[in-house]
Amino acid sequence: MAENNALLRRLQNKGTLVVAEGYLFEFERRGYLKAGAFVPEVVLEHPDLVKSLSEEFVHAGSDVVLAFTYYGHREKLRTIGREGDLEKINRQALEIAKSVAKETGTLFAGNICNTAVYQADNEESQRKAEAMFKEQIEWAVEAGVDFILGETFAELGEATLALESIQKYGQGVPAVITLMPTATEFTIEGVPIAEACRRLEEAGAAVVGLNCCRGPASILPLIKEVRAACKGPIACLPVPYRTSLEFPSMQSLKDPFSGRQAFPLDLPSQLCGRSEIRNFAEACKEIGVEYVGLCCGNASHYLREVAEVYGRTPPASKYSPDMSQHILFGDKSKMRDYYTGKVRQAIVTQDS
Ligand SMILES: [Zn+2]
Repeated sequence: MAENNALLRRLQNKGTLVVAEGYLFEFERRGYLKAGAFVPEVVLEHPDLVKSLSEEFVHAGSDVVLAFTYYGHREKLRTIGREGDLEKINRQALEIAKSVAKETGTLFAGNICNTAVYQADNEESQRKAEAMFKEQIEWAVEAGVDFILGETFAELGEATLALESIQKYGQGVPAVITLMPTATEFTIEGVPIAEACRRLEEAGAAVVGLNCCRGPASILPLIKEVRAACKGPIACLPVPYRTSLEFPSMQSLKDPFSGRQAFPLDLPSQLCGRSEIRNFAEACKEIGVEYVGLCCGNASHYLREVAEVYGRTPPASKYSPDMSQHILFGDKSKMRDYYTGKVRQAIVTQDS
């Protein structure tokens, strides 16, 4: 089965994948799920919108449709009193992703993540976490996924358990495992991030790497270390926020206006510009990141930048910016002097 697997085929011979994540933040922003618990209830209440966003991400260049089951696990549903909807939400999310992947010829991925149950020093919690992985993996396999993404693990132990669960219950479906880098260079249990990725690769993950928590500026130094430590394909999917080495995680960012913690409500005050995302994608290409994308805060205009840097011309490229057509900033030989001159001067205070 491995040789025929769509993910592995795509990654052969230096193949790359552009991957859109970030459904959770996007639907919270639009008013369809609650910040705090962050449970993908929109899958049940507005499946049409989930389908539409999945199609939009493909339109912008995603090669993968991820089933929106992130935080759609037993513990999170219990938190909001909807444990009874667990199977329904998973199966529905998988069906939506499958239909879009089929229509668009993209890969179809299942998704598991940190359980909010796992504790390194507690075997009972680990059995519980494994049972949570098992049920979601089995639903994903029944739906016919090309691979399963296990993501946002801050602990190597939980990431390893997720990988082992995919190997045990996934009937040969490949695993992509991405760690969530913390504000330090170590996993919660103190393993250097790059070393943790190397161990996951050695344990049999098809792709290993980092997603979420850090923005481009603070994830790039770490992904370079991951590249040096791993032989196979690596993944890098930061959040599009202006983290730095001083404030490495989106959770430590402050709103420059109020000086207060920006996460999560005031994070828009720290959003990257598109050119920063383009620079990030160029850096990833240079480093040799094969599986690239964006996580929480992602939107289609950002993903298109990544896709174009990675050589794609998605349908959305038809509308990529062309400022030569702008009445103030456009090509002076084609635009009216009145606008590129007098009107522009009145509108732009410090023209560059
Ligand atoms: Zn994220």
